[in-house]
Amino acid sequence: MRPVTRSPYGRARSVVRVNDLSCPNCGEEDNLSGRRKGEPGNETITVTCGSCELSWVRDLAPRCPTCGTDDVRTALQSIVEKSRGTQLSIQSMRVVYLCPICDPERLADWNQTNSPLRPAELPHDAN
Ligand SMILES: [Zn+2]
Ligand SMILES: [Zn+2]
Repeated sequence: MRPVTRSPYGRARSVVRVNDLSCPNCGEEDNLSGRRKGEPGNETITVTCGSCELSWVRDLAPRCPTCGTDDVRTALQSIVEKSRGTQLSIQSMRVVYLCPICDPERLADWNQTNSPLRPAELPHDAN
């Protein structure tokens, strides 16, 4: 097992494949592939991690929708879909950007637990 690193900014490396990026889930830095889509100036990159198979859309210029700062942090949020019965199963995750000013609670949660954030709308717990 590789040690898990969570820093989205990583350390400087001589060889960078996808813009000095690491997987927000497992910390993989090398085994990543990116696909560019869209018009220049409005393009997105879909990154796929070869280690844990997470894929996510990398926003090239993420901004806080509330205050507009670009000083946002990368975090993961689980996408939970209801399965049969009352059980929840975590199907996948997506990358979200947290603003330290507007969203300090979720950012602190992310920093402390190192586990994906809960989905915004959690189905009612049957317990
Ligand atoms: Zn990964
Ligand atoms: Zn903000």
